[in-house]
Order: sequence, then C-alpha cells, then structure tokens
Amino acid sequence: MDVRAYGATLALAEPFTIARSSRRVQEVVRVELEHEGVVGLGEATPVYYWGETVESALGFLGAEVSAALGDDPFALEAIRRRLAGRQGEQAAKCALDAALHDWIGKRLGQPVWRLLGLAPTGPPTSYTIGIDTVAGTADRARRARGFAILKVKVGGPDDVARLEAVRRESAARIRVDGNEGWTLEGARELMPALIELGVELVEQPFPAEDVGSFRALRELSTRLPVLVDEGCRDLASVAPIAGYADGINVKLAKAGGLREAIRMIHAARALRLRVMLGCMIESELGIAAAAQIACLADDVDLDGHLLIADPPFAGLGFDAGRVTPSSHPGLGVRPIR
Ligand code: MG
Repeated sequence: MDVRAYGATLALAEPFTIARSSRRVQEVVRVELEHEGVVGLGEATPVYYWGETVESALGFLGAEVSAALGDDPFALEAIRRRLAGRQGEQAAKCALDAALHDWIGKRLGQPVWRLLGLAPTGPPTSYTIGIDTVAGTADRARRARGFAILKVKVGGPDDVARLEAVRRESAARIRVDGNEGWTLEGARELMPALIELGVELVEQPFPAEDVGSFRALRELSTRLPVLVDEGCRDLASVAPIAGYADGINVKLAKAGGLREAIRMIHAARALRLRVMLGCMIESELGIAAAAQIACLADDVDLDGHLLIADPPFAGLGFDAGRVTPSSHPGLGVRPIR
C-alpha cells in the first residue's frame, strides 16, 4: 500500500469562537492510500486540545505507518490493533481509517454505509452558533433557519441573553456546549434558565478531568442531560463516563476512525448512554466518513463542512436537515478543485 499524507488549510466562512479559542482557518490532515490501482481518500482534523497538530500527524503517517498497515487493506481489525499500539495521533489514525474504508468501498463498488449494513439516513444535524455578541448571536440564529436544531456555544457573561436571542429568532431545538469553560457554581446558577428556555442538553460543561463537578451536577433535583465530548476519546473512555454523565459525543477524529467509533457506540448502548455523533471543522471528505454511520446515533452534529468558505470536496447530501452520504462507492465524495 502506498500512503501519501499532507496538510491542508480550510478557510472558514466566518470567525468561529468557543469557550477556549477563536479561529478563522482550520488545518486538516489528508491521506491518499493507493493499492492495486485504486485510491482511497481520508481526512481528519488534529485534536488540538490533546496536543495534536498537522505536523505531528504527518510525522506519524510518514515514519510508522507502513509497517502497521501491512499489505491487505481489507484487514481493518488487524490494522486497527497495530495502530493502537502507538498512543495519540488520533486524527492521523482517523484519516488513515477513512482512506481504508474509501478504498474498500471503491474496490467493491459500494458505499461504505452499505458495506456496514446501515441506512444512509440518520437524525437531523444541529448547526453550531459560535460565541458572539447578543446581536451577532441573533443574526447567526436568523441565518440558520433551515436547521431544526441549533448547538449554541456558551461560556461568557452574556450566555442567557444570547440564548434568549436565539429563542426569539428561531423555533429550533437548542443544545448548548460549554467546551470545558464552566464552573460548578456557574452551572448551578444557569441550569434553571436553561430549562426555562427549553434547552435540551448540555455538552461538556466542565474540564474533562473535573469529574467531581459532573458528579455534583447530577445531584441537582432538576437538570438537563449532560454529554461528554472532550472527555470522551475511544472505547476505553466510554464505561467510566457512565458513572458521571448521561451521554457521549463520538467524533471520528478523537476515536481514530469509523471502526473504533462503532465500537464506542455499541458500548454506549450497553451502558444506556445517549449517543451524539459529532465532528470537528472538516471538509466534506472528513464529514462524509461520519455520515456513513449517522443512523446509529441519537443526535447528530455534522455541520463542520457547512462552516467552510470554499469547499474542496463535494458529494454529501443535505436533505430536510439531514447530512446524507451519497450512493457512490466508498465515502462518496470527490475533489472539486
Ligand atoms: Mg463539543
């Protein structure tokens, strides 16, 4: 197998701000895997809050990957096990896993969702409203009227006013994401207002390691479901979360690809955890991999490609608020420039 890896820069349509950072571009890593005349493509965004960068991903893909891959692209489980021996670099593993799945689908002439025995249609996606002024938030909510669900990034003094503005501008269901930026005291104060506004869940309010605050929040007599994102990595992280939260946000870039993500989803089901399928800011190539398994999730948050100014790939569908994979072989997307 011939593996080529490179970095690419995605320009965002608007500045994107969350509790811990703000950005105008997103760096991603891409993999082209060629074998027997077929080329599989994959993409993932390095998990910056775990110290991953495009450079570290490319280092991993350049130096260590050939031996781990072996000579059979169909041997996904053996490849996954060999790659798991190396800690970290989840995005590099994810881009490789996506390219392998794309290769297998193209080789067999079938979309990946069919090879996995799944349906191409999952729950509607949420659309993300980044942190902004109250007026800016209202404007973003107005422009997002095609979406049935809005995920509002929170973590500032104007959170309640911003959420009230979203409620005024939109009839959409509302979820909030704290991106580790809250304190327990702040969460206790905010909870009644969130319930009053009809917010349906809270994602990652506290830092991943602050399990005590998650446990304390569970003691409230009325509260919203809490999902863990930054604190949820791979299969091994799922069972402990059942002890302090209500669900997980599975992202391929964190999990290391489709195969591990599916294992996580099944584990979560056994533990009665709610399952959100999320994404990083990625092009249609990255999002297409996640879209293959959207039907396995309770909640879908696959809007990363919709935040990009000049999309490099096409092929994903958007139908009645749902991001749907195409019926073309593999991941079903093609480069358009
Ligand atoms: Mg999140």
